[in-house]
Amino acid sequence: MLVLGRTDRKIERTTIAPEAVPDELKRLNDALAATRQTLKGIHNRVAAAMGQTEAGIFEAHLLVLEDANLLGEVHKLIRVQNTDAVYAFHTVAEKFASALAAAEDDYLRERAADLRDIGGRVIDQLMGVSGEDVLSSLTEPCVVVAHDLSPSTTAQLNPRLVVGFATDQGGRTSHTAIMARKLGIPAVVGLGDITQRLHSGDYALLDGHGGILISAPTDQTLFAYGQLQERHVALAKKLRELRDQPAVTLDGQGVILAANIESPADLPAVRESGANGVGLFRTEFLFLNRHQIPDEEEQYAAYRQVTEGCAPDPVIIRTLDLGGDKMPAEISLNGEPNPFLGWRAIRISLTRRDLFRTQLRAILRASAHGTVKLLYPMISCVEELQAANALVEECKAELRQEGQAFAAKLEIGVMIEVPSAALVADHLARYCDFFSLGTNDLTGYTLAVDRLNERVAHLYAPTHPAIIKLIALTVEAARRHGRWVGVCGEMAGEPAMIPLLLGLGVTELSATPRSVPQVKFLLRRLKLNEARALATAVLECENAAEISAATHQLARAVAPDLFTVRD
Ligand code: PEP
Ligand code: MG
Repeated sequence: MLVLGRTDRKIERTTIAPEAVPDELKRLNDALAATRQTLKGIHNRVAAAMGQTEAGIFEAHLLVLEDANLLGEVHKLIRVQNTDAVYAFHTVAEKFASALAAAEDDYLRERAADLRDIGGRVIDQLMGVSGEDVLSSLTEPCVVVAHDLSPSTTAQLNPRLVVGFATDQGGRTSHTAIMARKLGIPAVVGLGDITQRLHSGDYALLDGHGGILISAPTDQTLFAYGQLQERHVALAKKLRELRDQPAVTLDGQGVILAANIESPADLPAVRESGANGVGLFRTEFLFLNRHQIPDEEEQYAAYRQVTEGCAPDPVIIRTLDLGGDKMPAEISLNGEPNPFLGWRAIRISLTRRDLFRTQLRAILRASAHGTVKLLYPMISCVEELQAANALVEECKAELRQEGQAFAAKLEIGVMIEVPSAALVADHLARYCDFFSLGTNDLTGYTLAVDRLNERVAHLYAPTHPAIIKLIALTVEAARRHGRWVGVCGEMAGEPAMIPLLLGLGVTELSATPRSVPQVKFLLRRLKLNEARALATAVLECENAAEISAATHQLARAVAPDLFTVRD
C-alpha cells in the first residue's frame, strides 16, 4: 500500500531581495508553462481514452492558468511586497478559491475545487515535489491511499499499477469516483481519516463492491477473498459469453435491455456490454465542463454519431436535464435556493426556448440516420408535455421548409420521475408514445429525501411501497393506452430489482453499460409468471425492507452465482 501525504501543506512566507524579483517572476512563469504542458498532455490522453466530455474539465483548468486577475495579483505580491513565488501564488489562489467556495451557485463552487487542484499543481512545480511523481514512478502494483485524489490525478492513474484506491474524502458521485468507475479501478471513497490510520508498506485488501478496506487482512480473510476472486473471474467469463445472446426470460418474453450514456465516447462500452441500443442519452453532459454551449451542428454531430453507432437499435435521446446539480455558467444567473425543486430540466427548456429549439432541431436531424426516440425529463403536468410537443411540431415544420431530412415517425416519451407525473400518467399517455421511469428522482421526490445528504441516506428506499404503487399506476395507465414503459434509473441496473420491475409490467430496462451483462444474466434465468406473482404479492407489503427482501429472494434463487460474488 502507498499512503500519499495530505496535499494541504504548510506554506511559509519568504522574503526575497528586490534584485531577485525578475528571477522569481521567471521561476513562476516557468512553473506555469510546465503545468500548462502537463495539463495539455492529460487533456489529450483523457480525450483519447474517455472522450471530449471528460476531457473538458482540463480545458477549464487551462483557463485558470491564464486568468489575468489572478496572475496580476500574484505578480504584484512578488514585485511590491517581495514575497517568494510559492507564497504569492498560494495566497492569491486560495483567496480566489475561498471566494468561489462561498458562492451559492453550485457551478462556481465546483470551480473552487478546480482552482485548488490546479493551484496545487503549480505549487508542486515551484517546490519540485509531487504526489503524482510518486504515482508515475510506481513499479509494482499497489493500493493507493490518499486524503483526496483530484479528478486530474485520477484520470492519469495506470490501472495496472494502481489496483485500487481509498480516500478520506469524496462521494460516490464525485468526478473522481466517476473517473475511477470508467477506468475500472476499484475505489472506496469518503473513509474519513484513513490516511491517518495506515502507513505505506502496510498490507490491505480493498473491496470495491462492498465499499470496504481491510488493513492487515488475516490468512482466513485472504483465502475467502481469493475464492471470491475466482468466482468473479468465472462469472465475468460467463457474462462475456452472453454478449450476443438475446435478452429474453426463461419463458420466452423478450425484454429491451439498453444502456445509459453521457457522450458518444461511451459507444464502445455500449457495444461491449451487449445492450440493445441506448435507453437514456443524458445530453446535458455535452453542455457541462465547458465555456460555450454547443451549437446545433455540434449537437447534431454528437446525436448522429450515437444514432449511427447503434442503428438499427434505437437511441432514446433525453432533452436537457440541466439544473439541480448540473448547471453551466452561461445559463445560470443566480444561485437557486432549492435547485432540485427549482429551475430544472423541461422547465429550463420551456423558458429558454432558443436552447430547446436548437436541441430539438439537432435531434430531429439525427433521426434521419437511424432510430431515434425523444424523451422529456421532469415532466410534472400535461401542459408541459403539450408545450414541448408543440415546439417539436414547429421545429419539424421549419426543417421541412428548409428541406432538411428527419424521421417521419419519431416516438416521444415522458420521464416519470416526479410523483405528479405518475399520478396523471393516464392523461400524459394521450400525448406520448412511452414512459421511462426515472427511479432515482422518483424516489427522492416521493420520499422527500435528498440522495446526496448522508444524514437521510437511510430513508432513500426505491422499494418503498409508495414508489412501487407509483410504478404500478404508471404501467396500468400505459397499458390502457397501448403505450410501453421502461426504467432508466439506477434500479434497472440492480439485478435484484429485475424480478420486481418485470413483474410490475416494465418491458424495457436501461442501465449503465457495466451492469447490462449482469441484468441479462438474471433475465435469462427468470420466468415472467414468477415475477408477476412476486409483484402481485409485494403490492400488499407495508414497508420497503419486505419488498426488497422478496425481490432479492427470487433473484437469488434464479441466479445464485450473481449474488455469491456480489455479497
Ligand atoms: C432518474 O432520475 O432516475 C434518471 C434516470 O435521471 P437522472 O439520474 O439523470 O436524474
Ligand atoms: Mg432524473
